[in-house]
Amino acid sequence: MKRADRVEAIPPSGIRRFFEIAEEMDDVISLGVGEPDFSTPWAARTAAIDSLERGKTSYTANRGMRELREEISTYVRRWDLDYDPDEEILVTTGASEAVDLAVRSVVDPGDTVAVPQPSYISYVPTVTFAGGETLGVPTSHEDDFVLTADALAEAGADEADALMLCYPNNPTGAVMTESELEDVAAFCREHDLVVLSDEIYAGLRYDDEHTSIASLPGMRERTVVFNGFSKTHAMTGLRLGFALGPADAITAMNRVHQYTMLSSPTTAQHAAIEALRSCDDAVEEMRTQFDRRRRFVISRFNEMGLECFEAKGAFYAFPFCGGDDEQFAERLLREQNVALVPGRVFGSGGEGHLRVSYATGMGELREALDRIETFVAEQWTVA
Ligand code: PMP
Repeated sequence: MKRADRVEAIPPSGIRRFFEIAEEMDDVISLGVGEPDFSTPWAARTAAIDSLERGKTSYTANRGMRELREEISTYVRRWDLDYDPDEEILVTTGASEAVDLAVRSVVDPGDTVAVPQPSYISYVPTVTFAGGETLGVPTSHEDDFVLTADALAEAGADEADALMLCYPNNPTGAVMTESELEDVAAFCREHDLVVLSDEIYAGLRYDDEHTSIASLPGMRERTVVFNGFSKTHAMTGLRLGFALGPADAITAMNRVHQYTMLSSPTTAQHAAIEALRSCDDAVEEMRTQFDRRRRFVISRFNEMGLECFEAKGAFYAFPFCGGDDEQFAERLLREQNVALVPGRVFGSGGEGHLRVSYATGMGELREALDRIETFVAEQWTVA
């Protein structure tokens, strides 16, 4: 059948190939997926079940249930974000849809979006689908993968129309402090860039409270923030996220949303209301577990000679393997049955690194790290 050039131009996800190999093997421990191993907090699941029992299975308002938008408005105040439930919040089908809607309502064909590298895999294709161009802006291991105004200037981002930002970061686990964000914000104000800020890991910081770039002076009016329930509330399969932004940006996004999605899953919205009302303790318990695993994983990598900076957010470590990351991942999988993702999948700057998700139980993590240590000691030379 005929296929659009736009779609043909996008390469298949580099992560999938590894999972296809892994699926055919026994006894594989996967540190590959970006998905919590915890179950959705019980109260949220009960609310979903209850809504089904009461027959609440109709569409909701395009923007999402008002009750949920009110809860979101209250929830995000913890990051000094103040958004009106009627005008400035849109409930979406995962943060994924929020990213897509924002890009589609901001980017005209030929516009440029600066994307720090390495980056989460959906940004570049999303911009390409919208007819835009992306401009890679390097971040580096030496700088703990923090984006700087100097890197933006050097890459020529002063000419860009928008900046895609993701802190805490996937794939590196990097975070940015308020003063580091202020440098980037000043650059965006000076050169009139819109900021698309993916803050889906905002609730998974281990050092400090998250700062949203939208909370900095002069940034609210030029920023759309994305967040969702997949990571912090362990609700990946319920497919629910949200966007926060100035009323005109949210109205534009809703215009696309109402024709493409109509409304986001109703059952998931009921779960999300309860998740925000009563699940803070469950979320905090998961965060504490992630933090324990994070410390363990990072120290094990450093001990075995794979240099690993201290990632302070999300649930990823990004050690340097001192060689070809793709070869490392493939050989490790075949010889020790441990799946992780080669850094190059996430774009330039990822080469030589491995993305290791610690959203896996401590027992499996320990076993996986033992196997990686054996592989490194016996079969791998760190250049
Ligand atoms: N942004 C980032 C940085 C992510 O890691 C993910 C999930 N892997 C998403 C967005 C998409 O999340 P959702 O399940 O809410 O669509």
